[in-house]
Amino acid sequence: MLKKSFFGLAKPRMEYDLLPARMTEPETVVAPKTATLLHPKQDAPNAPALLKVGDTVKTGQKISLYADDPACVISSVTGTVAAMSPFSGDFGKNYTAITIEVDGEHVFDDRFEELARQPDPAAAPYLAGIPGGPPMGTLMDPASEIKTIVIRGADHDLLVGTNQYIVKTGLADIQRGIKALKDLTGIEQIILVTAAESLQGFGHLGARVKSIGRDYPDALDHMIMKNVLDEVVPAGKTCEELGVCFINAEAVASIGKTFDSGRMPSAKLLTLINKNGGPQLVRTTIGTPIGKILQRFSIAIEEKDRVILGGPMRGSAVFSLDHPVLPDTDAIMVVDDSRAAAASQYPCVNCGDCIRACPVQIPVNMLVRFLEAGQYEEAAERYDLLCCIECGLCSFVCISKIPIFQYIKLAKHELDRAQTVEETNV
Ligand code: SF4
Ligand code: SF4
Repeated sequence: MLKKSFFGLAKPRMEYDLLPARMTEPETVVAPKTATLLHPKQDAPNAPALLKVGDTVKTGQKISLYADDPACVISSVTGTVAAMSPFSGDFGKNYTAITIEVDGEHVFDDRFEELARQPDPAAAPYLAGIPGGPPMGTLMDPASEIKTIVIRGADHDLLVGTNQYIVKTGLADIQRGIKALKDLTGIEQIILVTAAESLQGFGHLGARVKSIGRDYPDALDHMIMKNVLDEVVPAGKTCEELGVCFINAEAVASIGKTFDSGRMPSAKLLTLINKNGGPQLVRTTIGTPIGKILQRFSIAIEEKDRVILGGPMRGSAVFSLDHPVLPDTDAIMVVDDSRAAAASQYPCVNCGDCIRACPVQIPVNMLVRFLEAGQYEEAAERYDLLCCIECGLCSFVCISKIPIFQYIKLAKHELDRAQTVEETNV
């Protein structure tokens, strides 16, 4: 819900919507005929290949492409590998897309079932592929000093209700997941944050429960750090560096289901936002092409319409309807060309709306000048680029329709890349 000042003198006020007390069940999209898994690409030209077209895979199987390949992907389906091809993601991330012709029934992987009998650190890589995409790498990294796990029971973006629904309907799974997380990681300090109006009914979860505000962007990690944990994340630092790891409620519920059943949970929940902005909860299979979901709901995509992974404030456009649902895909949004906010060539007119909207008081009007010129180091040193919590409010209010949020993400990516190159060459 939007409450925006017409005169630009006050901050725009937007609220997260709460799910109604009586919920309709999510619609189910049946398992697709083909599913696509994205394996992070590793260059290992001399290593023997471990997977080829024609191989069969089981649900829950850990797939690596080469011997000694540290990267892997967990199969969400049972079937036969039909194709393997390069796939480009956001910001130059490269993957190998593994297309699997799906068999009708799941055959579950023995190793996964063996590890899922009780929480065992060896299960961690498998858990990273379950619905919700738990950050097992961070949680199990012996070098990390995580002391607190925060469960997101509210979704980052507006119109998205995925994690809220899980909290509303899956507390027993979350309770089991919290116990398993404690056994796996040894971390006892676990907090569930929720935007629910009442905190009743959360007893015996094994976690403290805290409420967060309903104004956007109160559900973003940095805002929760400040408002709930009373810690401000310094510029350029991460929540993990302060000892706090965030995890989606869906991921915790999936961990609970895994150790309860000994099997990989196959249903991924997501919010589908149609061209009218109407959200709807959908259950599907990880690996389902987005186009199949849109087809199921008779959403036609015309030239110049946008398909976005995520919500209206922070989502990123995808360029192919073959893009698969991933373990952490919480929302898919379709925007009609006539409603899409087109980026313009207009210059900044120094109206100051972006500064008033920014929750961390960044001088965005100055920052944007350096971003447009590609002067990212200066943007970080002089205009607080690294304080940005990526809420997207500046882009939303900008009268000149400057794609500030996209510039910010690109700038941070380029700075990260430059730092990695520097560290590799030391
Ligand atoms: S995206 Fe960053 S700069 Fe823009 S309003 Fe949000 S915190 Fe401020
Ligand atoms: S960047 Fe956009 S919102 Fe900010 S001062 Fe310039 S025109 Fe106004």
